[in-house]
Amino acid sequence: MMALTDATVASGTGLGFDLAAGETVRISTPGGEQGGDFSFLGFDQAMTRNVNGWKRFGRPWLVFSADPGMVLCDGEGEAVMEVGPCRCDGRNDIMYPGCWSEIYGDGRPGCRDLIADGLGIERAEISGMLSFFVNAEIDTTAYRGLGRVDIEPGDHITLRALRDVRAAVSACPDMEIPGWTPGDLRVEVTSLRDRMSNDQGEDQ
Ligand SMILES: [Zn+2]
Repeated sequence: MMALTDATVASGTGLGFDLAAGETVRISTPGGEQGGDFSFLGFDQAMTRNVNGWKRFGRPWLVFSADPGMVLCDGEGEAVMEVGPCRCDGRNDIMYPGCWSEIYGDGRPGCRDLIADGLGIERAEISGMLSFFVNAEIDTTAYRGLGRVDIEPGDHITLRALRDVRAAVSACPDMEIPGWTPGDLRVEVTSLRDRMSNDQGEDQ
């Protein structure tokens, strides 16, 4: 399989890339170290929670995670990406906004800074983030996210573009999430045809 993009994203850095309709991005942790954030131009977290909740429950309930088979939506509620096979103890959180520079004492770029760079927009324009390899517990008081997660080498998420879109990934610079240690992410973009010829024996 020839990947259109096959890049390493070191901890604390980001990557922006264009996806054509039908292309799939696979984000993995070869060493089982840490997660990060994913976004695309126009991604709307609130609409995504609502659209998937309607689909699943038939009423206006919200989901907290974007699991395989769910879609990521824009501000019109249109599906822009579909979540494909994923493997990790942690899930694809669609509650958090991602971290940002000001929360770090040393002022290092956070996921919002890295993603904004990758998308080519101002940080304030980000309307949605998907944080992958994240665990949470929920009760009536709070969404208690960023809980302990057990990440294994090769854990991954896959997302398929349903239309042409600019996307970005960050390898989160946060060093205090239980179960995360700084490491590289691998980002591979493949076409639909490549995925089909590669489907046997890949992805759980
Ligand atoms: Zn982050």
